[in-house]
Amino acid sequence: MISENAALERILAAVAPMQTIPEELFEALDRYAAENITATVPIPAFDQSSMDGYALIAAESQSKTALRIIGEQPAGLDRRLTLTPESAIRIFTGAPIPTGADAVIMQEDVQREGDNIVCLEPVIARENIRQAGADLCQGQIVMRAGEKITPERLAVLASQGLEKIQVHALPRVAVLSTGDELVQPGAGPLQAGQIYNTNGLMLRGMLARLGIRESKQVHCRDDLQTTIETLKRLMDENDVVLLSGGVSVGDHDQIKPALQQLDIEPDLWRVKVKPGKPFLYASRHEPHTTHIFGLPGNPVSSFVTFLLFVRPALLKMMGATDQALVPRFVPVVAGTTLENPGDRPHYLRGTLANDQFMPFGMQQSHALLSLSRAEALLRLDAGQTLQAGDAAQAWLLD
Ligand code: AMP
Ligand code: MG
Repeated sequence: MISENAALERILAAVAPMQTIPEELFEALDRYAAENITATVPIPAFDQSSMDGYALIAAESQSKTALRIIGEQPAGLDRRLTLTPESAIRIFTGAPIPTGADAVIMQEDVQREGDNIVCLEPVIARENIRQAGADLCQGQIVMRAGEKITPERLAVLASQGLEKIQVHALPRVAVLSTGDELVQPGAGPLQAGQIYNTNGLMLRGMLARLGIRESKQVHCRDDLQTTIETLKRLMDENDVVLLSGGVSVGDHDQIKPALQQLDIEPDLWRVKVKPGKPFLYASRHEPHTTHIFGLPGNPVSSFVTFLLFVRPALLKMMGATDQALVPRFVPVVAGTTLENPGDRPHYLRGTLANDQFMPFGMQQSHALLSLSRAEALLRLDAGQTLQAGDAAQAWLLD
């Protein structure tokens, strides 16, 4: 059995970022930039008003003499107006500052009389003017290769007038569930001994959270020949195949025999982690590279091994920086006595209130309700015991 870290290291050494392609900005959401983007359009792009009011010469706002309104500049095309002494120009938020003006007075701070205003409060030079380039200047980096493209970053990319950005292609992923006992939800009531396929949807949901929304879902009975044929087809058509179930050593576990028949030697099998021990990773390199992750059938084992091993591999394929691959552990406090008498690290499912971790529900690897209510996973080392109040590390779930 290999340790979690050694397993992850081996997997990450085997996966490489996908090729880069130009993608429309909205399609690039939740993906990773494959190029640095340097600003060509400053923000603001020109000196502009931050208020609805009047552009004027700040010094002239000191006295109570009337200033004549000689024009109007709304947001939009620059009317190229020029301010003359003892005058003001009606202006609106986002509008370009007319030549000769050095401040804007808010409309609430003037008294308007026909075509004149009288300033009630003085303004100082540059007041209520957003200076060109103050937020972002030309040549400044707005996005670095490897950074995630969030909605906020889409906005800054759009501010540059870009239509597309280079990102890494999304891996084609298929989820293959195995098991004679499984029935697809919606396919009718269960017969005695059957259960609904829950992993398929969960794994596809986890893929979608990573930005891979278009995964395929296939099911296969515990029959060697069918498993071989299905596996072969899915490997031909995908960059990643996630297998759920059938990776142990039971008489009906067909994944290892099928891989053997296909001449694929697992790169690793069995990891020192609870839940998730039977986890398997293999790769095939002809006609193209396909990564095969064998996740144990128990739902919590599937969930935990996806987070530990599949997530970082997919993020690396999508071009994320190395920091993004690291699990997001945060400091918490044990809310009660937590013990792991076993010889493998144990990821407990629980809730978090004021940084206090409380295990929730059953902790066995089939326990779906506690998984569905969990807010965090707390990692206990083999043999570790924590008392209430002890410091610990937990992995926040979204
Ligand atoms: P296996 O890894 O195939 O030995 O399965 C271990 C346990 O997980 C068994 O109780 C299976 O019924 C269950 N299981 C396997 N695949 C799924 C699935 N897709 N959805 C829900 N439970 C599953
Ligand atoms: Mg099975």
